[in-house]
Amino acid sequence: MQLKTILNQCQKFKSFVYDQVRFVDWNGERHIEVDVLPRRNSKAICSCCEKPAPLYDRLNKRRFEFIPLWGYRVFLVYLMRRVDCTECGVKVEQVPWARGKQELTSTYQQYLAHWAKKLSWKEVAVSFRTSWEKVFQAVEYIVEWGLEHRDLSGVTAIGVDEIAWRKGHNYLTMVYQIDAGNTRLLWIGKERTVKTLLRFFRFFGKERSQHLKYVCSDMWRPYIKVIEKKAGQALHILDRFHIVAKLNKAIDEVRAGEHRQMQKDGYEPVLKNSRWCLLKRWENLTEKQEAKLQDLLQYNLRSVRAYLLKEDFNGFWDYVSPAWAEKFLDRWCTRVMRSKIEPMKKVAKTIRNHKPLILNWFKAKKAFSSGVVEGLNNKAKVTTRNSYGFRTYRGAEVALYHALGNLPTPPMTHRFC
Ligand SMILES: [Zn+2]
Repeated sequence: MQLKTILNQCQKFKSFVYDQVRFVDWNGERHIEVDVLPRRNSKAICSCCEKPAPLYDRLNKRRFEFIPLWGYRVFLVYLMRRVDCTECGVKVEQVPWARGKQELTSTYQQYLAHWAKKLSWKEVAVSFRTSWEKVFQAVEYIVEWGLEHRDLSGVTAIGVDEIAWRKGHNYLTMVYQIDAGNTRLLWIGKERTVKTLLRFFRFFGKERSQHLKYVCSDMWRPYIKVIEKKAGQALHILDRFHIVAKLNKAIDEVRAGEHRQMQKDGYEPVLKNSRWCLLKRWENLTEKQEAKLQDLLQYNLRSVRAYLLKEDFNGFWDYVSPAWAEKFLDRWCTRVMRSKIEPMKKVAKTIRNHKPLILNWFKAKKAFSSGVVEGLNNKAKVTTRNSYGFRTYRGAEVALYHALGNLPTPPMTHRFC
């Protein structure tokens, strides 16, 4: 069997044929080159308007890299033509295996992008003896194609969250679809301002926004404001995960402050190494942490009282009726306000201010647990943390859509991987 036969099997073009196949030595490496010729009587396509046009002249030979075969890099070699298009003038022809000035065939780009979902971009570049930039271009192409061809109909639930990006206070706003059975990243925007989220709604469109039934977010005021304005009909739910995170942050603050004070006053440092005992859910503690916690509970410490208040709050999520949940919330907030523990009082005030949105979770019958948004956001954090050189916003954007967008891919006659 000839290599040509295999190529025709996996990638056949109507207006072009595979011709000679040979080994070439290049830069101390042995490659396979495959000549590609235009089929007789076929017309060249204008790259500008994508219509057939009369031939103008021939340019240079170009090499387009294809998927490697048994460790050999494979190149399609083709003598590019120019057309004299009645509409666009003299233009380079368009070839079906590559786009614009890309040196890689689209099939190879799709192949690399496939591996870039499983490996870091650097690992892909090393494995296939190509460069990081080439992998980036490949993923960018697949992402652009996917974004253009994705179906945005039927989105009824979205989650809005942010992730920190690069050093300092750089944020990206992430909007996810969180419908049951269909979760994906819908949109990314720089910063986390009113303007950012307004940009999302402009992109998403009025009609689709009005079909939203549920929106989950954290207590970030700009988000709340925009959601109210642009998707007022939707049930806005404050995410359970973010409320728990706020409580944990308060506990941390109380513990750190008290620990410092005790050291200063010369007391035995009982709060040393107690951070996780107080933050973790009781049922998740290790044996050692449990013993430590038992020990701590004997002291009358602000940290312990804050911890008990936080543990009490867990009961809130078990309610079924919004009315009873509200009663619980009111009682809990009153107790915290009397506790004289400032960081906890701050949380209680926030909870009071956002009570209706928090209680919406019960109205949505707990359908949107924190798990969905949190899971997607954790994956997003891993993607940016393993940043593989995403120094630019564009790099991060492409990587995030690739990892989380659940995007469709261009159709292929043959599955190479
Ligand atoms: Zn044209």
